[in-house]
Amino acid sequence: RAKHVRLPTWLKTSVPIGTNYNKIKSDLRGLNLHTVCEEAKCPNIGDCWGGSDKSAATATIMLMGDTCTRGCRFCSVKTNRRPPPLDPHEPEHTAEALKRWGLGYVVLTSVDRDDLADGGASHFRETIVKIKQKAPHILVEALTGDFAGNLDMVARVATSGLDVYAHNVETVEALTPYVRDRRATFRQSLSVLAHAKLSQPTLITKTSIMLGLGEQDSEVLDALTELRKVDVDVVTFGQYMRPTKRHMKVEEYVTPEKFEYWKEKAVEMGFLYVASGPLVRSSYKAGEAFIENVLK
Ligand code: SF4
Ligand code: SF4
Repeated sequence: RAKHVRLPTWLKTSVPIGTNYNKIKSDLRGLNLHTVCEEAKCPNIGDCWGGSDKSAATATIMLMGDTCTRGCRFCSVKTNRRPPPLDPHEPEHTAEALKRWGLGYVVLTSVDRDDLADGGASHFRETIVKIKQKAPHILVEALTGDFAGNLDMVARVATSGLDVYAHNVETVEALTPYVRDRRATFRQSLSVLAHAKLSQPTLITKTSIMLGLGEQDSEVLDALTELRKVDVDVVTFGQYMRPTKRHMKVEEYVTPEKFEYWKEKAVEMGFLYVASGPLVRSSYKAGEAFIENVLK
């Protein structure tokens, strides 16, 4: 397999600024909301916050702190077995701030909290319920961990009034033990996605796969087949980028053409919509995609 030392041109980006971007950014000031978009310096911020229509703009908010009880080999979030306790006011504050910010679509995500009896499911649920009470026009996606396979916790989030339930398988089954924390398995993730749909059939379910970790095409195809079997609606593909030298290596920079190939393949296999590209992250323009593919 060819090794690329330099970053290919398609991964070199400057932050593009859409018409709405500055307005949304200035609205954010004083709301005390921490977006993953800004904190991770996501290159898609112009696309997600920009565009001409604020009601389709998307942002990702991190709940339950910045310290994860797991340690995946691709992820730069800090790890500790005993993170600080939850902020009981976070659901209320988040809902209030989102109402004032006025975005159309929010992705709520979190670190994994294996230290909590419910894995944080009630906190997720309370946040979603409060957002829907205060600002019913906001579409809400929850991107959760696997709740250590506790399907009652999946149902607790899935039946909260949520629009999209996302849980990332991250990679193909064969690479899962080398990529994700040892407590995560591909099968467990499939059961999370299956159960979300089972407990709330009107939900859109969604997952994401990173490419460039050494996966074979046949393994990607198998993963897509398994995901369709449990009726997952949406899949996104992005390039794995190594956060630091302590994290696993990039095996391959996948070409934009190959991303396009996977997009076509997944659509052919029956996914409702697919986002696929080197810089795509699971929340990439999620609001626009939902409005175009689900509401219209
Ligand atoms: Fe934010 Fe996700 Fe869009 Fe990046 S891809 S700007 S994290 S919503
Ligand atoms: Fe990062 Fe999520 Fe893995 Fe925690 S569970 S280390 S936040 S990818």
